[in-house]
Amino acid sequence: MTGEILVSEVGPRDGLQSIRSIMPLESKKAWIDAEAAAGVREIEVGSFVPAKLLPQLADTAEVVAHARTIPGLAVAVLVPNLKGAEAAVQAGAHKITIPLSASETHSLKNVRRTHAQMLDEVRGIVALLRSLPAGQRPRFEGGLSTAFGCTLEGDVPADRVVRLAESLMEAGCDEVGLSDTTGYANPAQVKDLVRRVRGAVGDHALSGLHLHNTRGLGLANVLAGLEVGITTFDSSLGGLGGCPFAPGASGNIVTEDLVFMLEAMGIRTGIDLPRLLAVREILRSAVPGEEIHGFTPAAGLPLGFRPATSPGASA
Ligand code: ZN
Repeated sequence: MTGEILVSEVGPRDGLQSIRSIMPLESKKAWIDAEAAAGVREIEVGSFVPAKLLPQLADTAEVVAHARTIPGLAVAVLVPNLKGAEAAVQAGAHKITIPLSASETHSLKNVRRTHAQMLDEVRGIVALLRSLPAGQRPRFEGGLSTAFGCTLEGDVPADRVVRLAESLMEAGCDEVGLSDTTGYANPAQVKDLVRRVRGAVGDHALSGLHLHNTRGLGLANVLAGLEVGITTFDSSLGGLGGCPFAPGASGNIVTEDLVFMLEAMGIRTGIDLPRLLAVREILRSAVPGEEIHGFTPAAGLPLGFRPATSPGASA
Protein backbone atom coordinates (compact mmCIF):
# COMPACT_ATOMS: atom_id res chain seq x y z
CA MET A 1 0.00 0.00 0.00
CA THR A 2 2.85 2.40 -0.63
CA GLY A 3 2.55 3.16 -4.34
CA GLU A 4 0.60 6.04 -5.75
CA ILE A 5 -3.19 5.79 -5.92
CA LEU A 6 -5.21 7.36 -8.73
CA VAL A 7 -8.12 9.45 -7.52
CA SER A 8 -10.48 9.83 -10.46
CA GLU A 9 -12.75 12.86 -10.10
CA VAL A 10 -16.24 12.15 -11.43
CA GLY A 11 -18.05 15.27 -10.17
CA PRO A 12 -18.37 17.03 -13.53
CA ARG A 13 -20.27 13.97 -14.81
CA ASP A 14 -21.77 12.04 -11.88
CA GLY A 15 -22.31 15.09 -9.68
CA LEU A 16 -23.68 17.44 -12.30
CA GLN A 17 -26.06 14.88 -13.80
CA SER A 18 -27.74 14.44 -10.42
CA ILE A 19 -28.52 18.09 -9.68
CA ARG A 20 -31.15 20.36 -11.14
CA SER A 21 -28.90 23.38 -11.64
CA ILE A 22 -27.07 23.56 -14.94
CA MET A 23 -23.45 24.60 -14.44
CA PRO A 24 -22.28 27.10 -17.06
CA LEU A 25 -19.54 25.86 -19.42
CA GLU A 26 -17.06 28.46 -18.15
CA SER A 27 -17.50 27.22 -14.56
CA LYS A 28 -17.00 23.61 -15.64
CA LYS A 29 -13.75 24.62 -17.32
CA ALA A 30 -12.63 26.56 -14.23
CA TRP A 31 -13.47 23.58 -12.00
CA ILE A 32 -11.53 21.13 -14.17
CA ASP A 33 -8.57 23.54 -14.49
CA ALA A 34 -8.42 24.05 -10.73
CA GLU A 35 -8.60 20.33 -9.89
CA ALA A 36 -5.92 19.51 -12.45
CA ALA A 37 -3.77 22.30 -11.00
CA ALA A 38 -4.24 20.72 -7.55
CA GLY A 39 -2.78 17.49 -8.95
CA VAL A 40 -5.84 15.47 -10.03
CA ARG A 41 -4.73 13.36 -13.02
CA GLU A 42 -8.01 11.88 -14.25
CA ILE A 43 -11.40 13.58 -14.51
CA GLU A 44 -14.64 12.21 -15.90
CA VAL A 45 -15.80 15.42 -17.53
CA GLY A 46 -19.17 14.47 -18.94
CA SER A 47 -21.41 11.99 -20.66
CA PHE A 48 -22.48 11.66 -24.30
CA VAL A 49 -26.21 11.20 -23.81
CA PRO A 50 -28.99 13.06 -25.65
CA ALA A 51 -29.25 16.64 -24.40
CA LYS A 52 -32.97 16.26 -23.81
CA LEU A 53 -32.27 13.49 -21.27
CA LEU A 54 -29.45 15.31 -19.46
CA PRO A 55 -29.36 19.02 -20.34
CA GLN A 56 -26.75 19.45 -17.56
CA LEU A 57 -24.22 17.62 -19.76
CA ALA A 58 -25.23 18.95 -23.18
CA ASP A 59 -21.87 20.73 -23.59
CA THR A 60 -19.73 17.62 -22.99
CA ALA A 61 -17.95 17.87 -26.37
CA GLU A 62 -16.82 21.41 -25.54
CA VAL A 63 -15.76 20.36 -22.04
CA VAL A 64 -13.68 17.50 -23.50
CA ALA A 65 -12.08 19.83 -26.03
CA HIS A 66 -11.03 22.15 -23.22
CA ALA A 67 -9.88 19.42 -20.81
CA ARG A 68 -7.69 17.90 -23.55
CA THR A 69 -5.58 21.06 -23.53
CA ILE A 70 -4.50 20.42 -19.90
CA PRO A 71 -1.12 18.66 -19.95
CA GLY A 72 -1.04 15.28 -18.22
CA LEU A 73 -4.78 15.08 -17.58
CA ALA A 74 -6.64 11.90 -18.60
CA VAL A 75 -10.02 13.00 -19.93
CA ALA A 76 -12.72 10.40 -19.29
CA VAL A 77 -16.35 10.31 -20.41
CA LEU A 78 -19.34 8.03 -19.98
CA VAL A 79 -21.26 6.73 -23.00
CA PRO A 80 -24.53 4.77 -22.96
CA ASN A 81 -24.14 3.26 -26.45
CA LEU A 82 -22.26 3.19 -29.78
CA LYS A 83 -23.65 6.57 -30.80
CA GLY A 84 -22.26 8.12 -27.63
CA ALA A 85 -18.90 6.44 -28.24
CA GLU A 86 -18.74 7.93 -31.74
CA ALA A 87 -19.26 11.38 -30.24
CA ALA A 88 -16.61 10.67 -27.57
CA VAL A 89 -14.07 9.62 -30.19
CA GLN A 90 -14.88 12.67 -32.29
CA ALA A 91 -14.35 14.93 -29.26
CA GLY A 92 -11.05 13.24 -28.42
CA ALA A 93 -11.73 11.63 -25.03
CA HIS A 94 -8.83 9.60 -23.62
CA LYS A 95 -11.03 7.11 -21.83
CA ILE A 96 -14.57 5.85 -22.45
CA THR A 97 -16.69 3.98 -19.95
CA ILE A 98 -19.94 2.23 -20.78
CA PRO A 99 -22.07 1.26 -17.80
CA LEU A 100 -23.51 -2.24 -17.75
CA SER A 101 -25.91 -2.81 -14.89
CA ALA A 102 -25.44 -6.19 -13.24
CA SER A 103 -29.14 -6.02 -12.42
CA GLU A 104 -31.03 -6.59 -15.68
CA THR A 105 -34.15 -4.94 -14.21
CA HIS A 106 -32.05 -1.82 -13.55
CA SER A 107 -30.55 -2.00 -17.05
CA LEU A 108 -33.99 -2.16 -18.66
CA LYS A 109 -35.24 0.74 -16.59
CA ASN A 110 -32.12 2.86 -17.07
CA VAL A 111 -31.16 2.32 -20.71
CA ARG A 112 -34.04 0.09 -21.90
CA ARG A 113 -31.64 -2.65 -22.88
CA THR A 114 -31.06 -6.24 -21.80
CA HIS A 115 -27.58 -7.55 -20.98
CA ALA A 116 -27.36 -9.16 -24.44
CA GLN A 117 -28.27 -5.86 -26.12
CA MET A 118 -25.72 -3.95 -24.05
CA LEU A 119 -23.01 -6.45 -24.93
CA ASP A 120 -23.89 -5.87 -28.62
CA GLU A 121 -23.28 -2.14 -28.07
CA VAL A 122 -19.95 -2.98 -26.44
CA ARG A 123 -18.90 -5.08 -29.44
CA GLY A 124 -19.92 -2.23 -31.76
CA ILE A 125 -17.80 0.22 -29.78
CA VAL A 126 -14.81 -2.17 -29.80
CA ALA A 127 -15.08 -2.43 -33.61
CA LEU A 128 -15.16 1.36 -33.84
CA LEU A 129 -12.11 1.75 -31.59
CA ARG A 130 -10.14 -0.93 -33.41
CA SER A 131 -10.73 0.91 -36.69
CA LEU A 132 -8.77 3.88 -35.29
CA PRO A 133 -4.98 4.23 -35.50
CA ALA A 134 -3.46 2.65 -32.35
CA GLY A 135 -2.22 5.99 -30.97
CA GLN A 136 -5.68 7.54 -31.15
CA ARG A 137 -7.65 4.78 -29.46
CA PRO A 138 -9.24 5.79 -26.16
CA ARG A 139 -9.08 3.22 -23.36
CA PHE A 140 -12.39 1.41 -23.05
CA GLU A 141 -13.83 0.32 -19.73
CA GLY A 142 -16.95 -1.68 -19.02
CA GLY A 143 -18.31 -0.33 -15.75
CA LEU A 144 -20.42 -2.90 -13.89
CA SER A 145 -23.01 -0.82 -12.07
CA THR A 146 -25.24 -2.17 -9.27
CA ALA A 147 -22.45 -4.73 -8.75
CA PHE A 148 -23.02 -4.86 -4.99
CA GLY A 149 -26.81 -4.82 -4.92
CA CYS A 150 -29.79 -3.19 -6.61
CA THR A 151 -32.67 -1.07 -5.33
CA LEU A 152 -35.01 -2.97 -7.69
CA GLU A 153 -33.69 -6.55 -7.44
CA GLY A 154 -32.02 -6.51 -4.04
CA ASP A 155 -29.22 -9.06 -3.93
CA VAL A 156 -27.01 -9.24 -7.01
CA PRO A 157 -25.24 -12.64 -7.06
CA ALA A 158 -21.44 -12.36 -7.27
CA ASP A 159 -21.40 -15.15 -9.88
CA ARG A 160 -23.43 -12.97 -12.21
CA VAL A 161 -21.05 -10.04 -11.79
CA VAL A 162 -18.11 -12.34 -12.54
CA ARG A 163 -19.85 -13.71 -15.65
CA LEU A 164 -20.62 -10.20 -16.93
CA ALA A 165 -17.02 -9.09 -16.30
CA GLU A 166 -15.86 -12.05 -18.40
CA SER A 167 -18.35 -11.15 -21.14
CA LEU A 168 -17.15 -7.53 -21.21
CA MET A 169 -13.51 -8.63 -21.53
CA GLU A 170 -14.41 -11.21 -24.20
CA ALA A 171 -16.25 -8.46 -26.09
CA GLY A 172 -12.99 -6.50 -26.19
CA CYS A 173 -13.01 -4.03 -23.27
CA ASP A 174 -9.56 -3.03 -22.00
CA GLU A 175 -10.74 -3.28 -18.40
CA VAL A 176 -13.77 -3.57 -16.15
CA GLY A 177 -14.74 -1.53 -13.11
CA LEU A 178 -17.12 -2.24 -10.25
CA SER A 179 -19.67 0.34 -9.14
CA ASP A 180 -21.61 0.43 -5.90
CA THR A 181 -24.33 2.52 -7.53
CA THR A 182 -26.75 2.01 -4.65
CA GLY A 183 -24.40 2.24 -1.66
CA TYR A 184 -25.15 -1.38 -0.65
CA ALA A 185 -21.51 -2.53 -0.44
CA ASN A 186 -19.67 -3.45 2.75
CA PRO A 187 -15.91 -3.98 3.11
CA ALA A 188 -16.06 -7.79 3.28
CA GLN A 189 -18.16 -7.86 0.12
CA VAL A 190 -15.77 -5.47 -1.64
CA LYS A 191 -12.82 -7.77 -0.94
CA ASP A 192 -14.73 -10.87 -1.95
CA LEU A 193 -16.07 -9.47 -5.22
CA VAL A 194 -12.78 -7.87 -6.25
CA ARG A 195 -10.96 -11.17 -5.62
CA ARG A 196 -13.53 -13.17 -7.56
CA VAL A 197 -13.62 -10.83 -10.55
CA ARG A 198 -9.83 -10.56 -10.63
CA GLY A 199 -9.63 -14.33 -10.39
CA ALA A 200 -11.75 -14.59 -13.53
CA VAL A 201 -10.41 -11.76 -15.72
CA GLY A 202 -6.94 -11.16 -14.27
CA ASP A 203 -5.63 -8.51 -11.88
CA HIS A 204 -4.72 -6.15 -14.75
CA ALA A 205 -8.35 -6.07 -15.93
CA LEU A 206 -9.81 -4.68 -12.70
CA SER A 207 -8.05 -1.70 -11.16
CA GLY A 208 -10.87 0.67 -10.26
CA LEU A 209 -13.85 0.98 -7.93
CA HIS A 210 -16.69 3.49 -7.98
CA LEU A 211 -17.99 3.56 -4.43
CA HIS A 212 -20.78 5.51 -2.77
CA ASN A 213 -21.16 6.72 0.79
CA THR A 214 -24.92 6.23 1.08
CA ARG A 215 -24.65 4.30 4.35
CA GLY A 216 -21.41 5.82 5.60
CA LEU A 217 -19.24 2.93 4.40
CA GLY A 218 -17.60 4.66 1.45
CA LEU A 219 -14.12 5.06 2.93
CA ALA A 220 -14.26 1.72 4.74
CA ASN A 221 -14.93 0.18 1.34
CA VAL A 222 -11.99 2.10 -0.14
CA LEU A 223 -9.73 0.63 2.53
CA ALA A 224 -11.02 -2.85 1.71
CA GLY A 225 -10.32 -2.18 -1.97
CA LEU A 226 -6.78 -1.00 -1.17
CA GLU A 227 -6.14 -4.20 0.75
CA VAL A 228 -6.95 -6.33 -2.29
CA GLY A 229 -4.86 -4.29 -4.72
CA ILE A 230 -7.27 -1.71 -6.18
CA THR A 231 -5.35 1.36 -7.38
CA THR A 232 -8.05 3.71 -8.75
CA PHE A 233 -10.98 5.18 -6.82
CA ASP A 234 -13.73 7.42 -8.18
CA SER A 235 -15.00 10.31 -6.08
CA SER A 236 -16.78 13.61 -6.43
CA LEU A 237 -15.67 17.01 -5.14
CA GLY A 238 -17.96 18.05 -2.30
CA GLY A 239 -19.92 14.84 -2.87
CA LEU A 240 -21.83 16.93 -5.39
CA GLY A 241 -25.10 15.42 -6.50
CA GLY A 242 -26.03 14.01 -3.12
CA CYS A 243 -27.80 10.70 -2.90
CA PRO A 244 -31.30 10.10 -4.29
CA PHE A 245 -31.93 7.34 -1.71
CA ALA A 246 -30.72 9.24 1.34
CA PRO A 247 -31.45 12.96 1.43
CA GLY A 248 -28.68 14.89 3.19
CA ALA A 249 -26.04 12.25 2.43
CA SER A 250 -23.44 12.39 -0.30
CA GLY A 251 -23.81 9.78 -3.02
CA ASN A 252 -20.28 9.53 -4.37
CA ILE A 253 -17.40 9.49 -1.92
CA VAL A 254 -16.23 13.04 -1.24
CA THR A 255 -12.91 13.60 -3.06
CA GLU A 256 -11.53 15.78 -0.24
CA ASP A 257 -12.21 13.08 2.40
CA LEU A 258 -10.77 10.34 0.18
CA VAL A 259 -7.58 12.32 -0.48
CA PHE A 260 -7.28 13.13 3.23
CA MET A 261 -7.55 9.47 4.23
CA LEU A 262 -5.01 8.29 1.67
CA GLU A 263 -2.50 11.06 2.33
CA ALA A 264 -2.84 10.66 6.12
CA MET A 265 -2.10 6.94 5.68
CA GLY A 266 1.11 7.80 3.83
CA ILE A 267 -0.32 6.88 0.42
CA ARG A 268 0.57 9.41 -2.25
CA THR A 269 -2.19 10.75 -4.51
CA GLY A 270 -0.17 13.53 -6.14
CA ILE A 271 -2.91 15.91 -4.97
CA ASP A 272 -2.25 19.05 -2.93
CA LEU A 273 -5.03 18.92 -0.34
CA PRO A 274 -5.24 22.63 0.59
CA ARG A 275 -5.44 23.50 -3.10
CA LEU A 276 -8.11 20.85 -3.60
CA LEU A 277 -10.16 22.24 -0.70
CA ALA A 278 -10.04 25.68 -2.30
CA VAL A 279 -11.73 24.32 -5.46
CA ARG A 280 -14.98 24.01 -3.47
CA GLU A 281 -15.40 27.77 -3.85
CA ILE A 282 -15.88 27.29 -7.59
CA LEU A 283 -18.72 24.82 -6.93
CA ARG A 284 -20.29 27.11 -4.35
CA SER A 285 -20.45 30.07 -6.66
CA ALA A 286 -21.34 28.11 -9.83
CA VAL A 287 -24.25 26.10 -8.34
CA PRO A 288 -25.13 28.10 -5.21
CA GLY A 289 -28.37 26.25 -4.46
CA GLU A 290 -26.75 22.82 -4.22
CA GLU A 291 -25.61 21.05 -1.07
CA ILE A 292 -21.88 20.41 -0.80
CA HIS A 293 -20.62 17.67 1.53
CA GLY A 294 -17.38 16.67 3.23
CA PHE A 295 -16.07 16.01 6.73
CA THR A 296 -12.48 17.14 6.16
CA PRO A 297 -13.52 20.48 4.67
CA ALA A 298 -15.90 21.07 7.60
CA ALA A 299 -13.35 20.15 10.30
CA GLY A 300 -10.21 21.45 8.60
CA LEU A 301 -6.88 19.65 8.40
CA PRO A 302 -5.44 18.36 11.69
CA LEU A 303 -2.77 20.49 13.34
CA GLY A 304 0.64 19.45 12.04
CA PHE A 305 -0.88 17.33 9.26
CA ARG A 306 1.83 15.94 6.99
CA PRO A 307 0.54 14.71 3.66
CA ALA A 308 2.31 11.88 1.82
CA THR A 309 2.41 14.04 -1.30
CA SER A 310 4.85 16.88 -0.71
CA PRO A 311 3.18 20.28 -1.18
CA GLY A 312 3.77 21.87 -4.55
CA ALA A 313 4.94 18.60 -6.10
CA SER A 314 3.18 17.83 -9.32
CA ALA A 315 2.84 14.13 -9.92
ZN1 ZN B 1 -21.62 7.57 -8.51
